[in-house]
Amino acid sequence: MKRRLTFCLSILLALTAGQTALGAQAQTESQNISGEYAELPEEVLEEMEESLSLEEELLSDGNGETSAQESQAPEIPATDYIPVLMYHHFAQRDMGRGNGVVVTQAELEEQITYFKEQGYRLISLEELDHLLTRAEMNPKEESGLGLSAKYLCITIDDGYYSNYELAYPVFRKLRVPAAIFAITDSVTNHVGLRKFTWKEAGEMIKNSQVRIYNHTSNHVPADETDADSFVAAVLAGQEALETKLAQQKDTVMALAYPNGEYTPEIQQRLLEEGIQLQFTVTPGVVNRNTSRAAIPRIMVVSGMTGEEILERAQRLAAATME
Ligand SMILES: [Zn+2]
Repeated sequence: MKRRLTFCLSILLALTAGQTALGAQAQTESQNISGEYAELPEEVLEEMEESLSLEEELLSDGNGETSAQESQAPEIPATDYIPVLMYHHFAQRDMGRGNGVVVTQAELEEQITYFKEQGYRLISLEELDHLLTRAEMNPKEESGLGLSAKYLCITIDDGYYSNYELAYPVFRKLRVPAAIFAITDSVTNHVGLRKFTWKEAGEMIKNSQVRIYNHTSNHVPADETDADSFVAAVLAGQEALETKLAQQKDTVMALAYPNGEYTPEIQQRLLEEGIQLQFTVTPGVVNRNTSRAAIPRIMVVSGMTGEEILERAQRLAAATME
């Protein structure tokens, strides 16, 4: 506990002293505005850093430069892979550089509208599960999925109040599904940066295609605990979801690994427990070779347009598929 608190403080200090454009005064001001959050909790920062550093590695030629080869590589059809996007936190207005994971409501709306204009169908985790099952039953040499349409999946980690206040109205208005991975103890006990309540989660489930899934009960990453404790936290998260959101029917058992950390033993034990979809923060796209115990995702950072997200998906597909 003490260690986590120290870590949290060091992040806060780094934020205040570091690259962020927000000064201490701006932080105080913005915290007073409903729906605006200047502070970034540790769980967001760790997931962001992990994902972005892996992505940089994947898309660079080792000199920090984007590989020229990629642009010459044959374009992989968008029907051959499924991008799974990862969001965290939302704000009403731009929080400035250095707030990497805070996406504005307007950005989210533009992105989804663009995906739809480009002919993408946004799918639920249940549909993703179905498509993966179909691919598993029909193994082929090539990594392309050969789908009949372009699909895309939206996921959000941690379960912040901003998901309910700012993102949910967009999902509802545009009639698209979204999967939120909630830290169940934080919802129940109101821990850390404000989370939505179980009542608000129920409202989202009732009025939209938003569904709530498992991000463990306590957000302790697999590399900071033993396998037994980790599996127990996943099962506790699952039980909380089933108890608090009994109205949520026919959902798959899906987990987003805290900080994207996992081990082969944990993956296997969770599959045996029925956790059929396990999401990481490893950059990439879903294709025929994707393991359902290590589903890659594309991190959406502030300031990205829908077009940029699809370009990134294409580049990651080219870098990770044959
Ligand atoms: Zn998280």
